[in-house]
Amino acid sequence: MNKKVMVLGGGIAGLSAALELSKKNIQVELVEKTCFLGGKSIGFTCKATDKCQQCGACVVEEVLRDVVEQPNINVHLRTEMEQVVKNGRFKVKLKKSNSIPKENQILTGFSKYNSPYKVVIGNVQGSEDAVSIDRLGTEGELDVDALIIATGFTPFDPTARATYGYKRWGNVITALELENTLRTEVKAIKPSDGQRAKKIGFIQCVGSRSQTFNSVWCSEVCCPYALRMASMIKHKYPDTEIWIFFIDIQNVGKEYSSFLEQIKSDIKLVTATPIDIFPAQDNKVKVAYEDDIEDRRKLEEFDLVVLSVGIMPNKDNKELSKIINIDLSEHGFFSDIDPLRPSLTSREGIFLAGTTTGPKDILSTISHAKGAVCETLTYLGGKK
Ligand SMILES: Cc1cc2nc3c(=O)[nH]c(=O)nc-3n(C[C@H](O)[C@H](O)[C@H](O)COP(=O)(O)OP(=O)(O)OC[C@H]3O[C@@H](n4cnc5c(N)ncnc54)[C@H](O)[C@@H]3O)c2cc1C
Ligand code: SF4
Ligand code: SF4
Repeated sequence: MNKKVMVLGGGIAGLSAALELSKKNIQVELVEKTCFLGGKSIGFTCKATDKCQQCGACVVEEVLRDVVEQPNINVHLRTEMEQVVKNGRFKVKLKKSNSIPKENQILTGFSKYNSPYKVVIGNVQGSEDAVSIDRLGTEGELDVDALIIATGFTPFDPTARATYGYKRWGNVITALELENTLRTEVKAIKPSDGQRAKKIGFIQCVGSRSQTFNSVWCSEVCCPYALRMASMIKHKYPDTEIWIFFIDIQNVGKEYSSFLEQIKSDIKLVTATPIDIFPAQDNKVKVAYEDDIEDRRKLEEFDLVVLSVGIMPNKDNKELSKIINIDLSEHGFFSDIDPLRPSLTSREGIFLAGTTTGPKDILSTISHAKGAVCETLTYLGGKK
């Protein structure tokens, strides 16, 4: 098939779609806003204990390596879509993105300017491991036959939940930050002094299932990632005390009950939503929560508190929806028009992949992206 498809977004959804298309001999233009490929999940840690916990993180690096080796995938880093016009094919106007790393910003991903292939995690500009990044971006127009939108999600910003003290108290971090630290350091580090945290509290549903933030959905991935990270830490450092504050545990998979039973002996599970987090002596943080069983307020002190942030719509969605002329759902994700064909949109030739339509874990994102490729091939086959 002598066709060309643009994939917008270089996270695991976009990478999987690009790879599948290239295997079908379709030329792919892969457009990524940041300077790196891989999206959020390229920075995730392996959560294996004495056995694989099937978190999916290693799959991302495998797919990324395959994409980088494909001659028929053109990668445009630091590039965004500005306009799309359909006249038979799609004429897409691209512009250089403003997304440039800030001084000392921790970044993860793959940079095409580093040979041999390298996944970068760390302070790109400052570290000894410094790498070159694509500062140029692509400008101009490209003609393509179809588009796959794989622009992913934005994690909940916990500064909006002021009582949790994120960015105010040093030892309150997000689960995304913990993923990156565990990947590079293999232990949970206290930002205050760089030492290993020996008592850790995870707080679930941060930003999700919330009327206040108009985000009433369950993010689906945070119970599994928190439980897996907790059991991985406990396995590596058995002297660590771990608490998890939750409303109810969701979506831990087929072996849920045995997994949970096994975890209960190692980890303290508390059914409560913490109200407040505040600083204590020696850079510790105190969590105030309502004990529903004893019906009274309690306080618990931790070395490190981890906020299990949820999956929110990409903050670019509103602007993107105007450019591609596709409506968003009431919650701000891109909505499919047919639940049985979850990649279809109201515009022929434009398809959706991954968390751009709502919460998904890595493996569900990959299968959604494969579905988007099937729809694209059907569309291209019909066009001839
Ligand atoms: C803290 C945390 C931990 C998690 N841990 C796990 C886990 O252990 N296992 C698991 O299975 N799942 C986990 N998940 C879920 C996982 O992150 C998602 O399944 C996965 O990242 C979805 O991939 P994606 O490609 O849809 O989106 P993303 O990873 O968000 O990638 C989207 C890409 O599109 C780019 N982009 C965005 N806007 C534009 C634009 N306008 N133009 C061009 N490019 C754009 C972004 O820069 C990014 O590279 C976790 C999620 C969180 C929040
Ligand atoms: S990264 Fe996840 S899926 Fe891969 S080996 Fe480790 S635990 Fe298993
Ligand atoms: S997966 Fe768990 S932590 Fe995440 S929103 Fe659902 S219930 Fe809350």
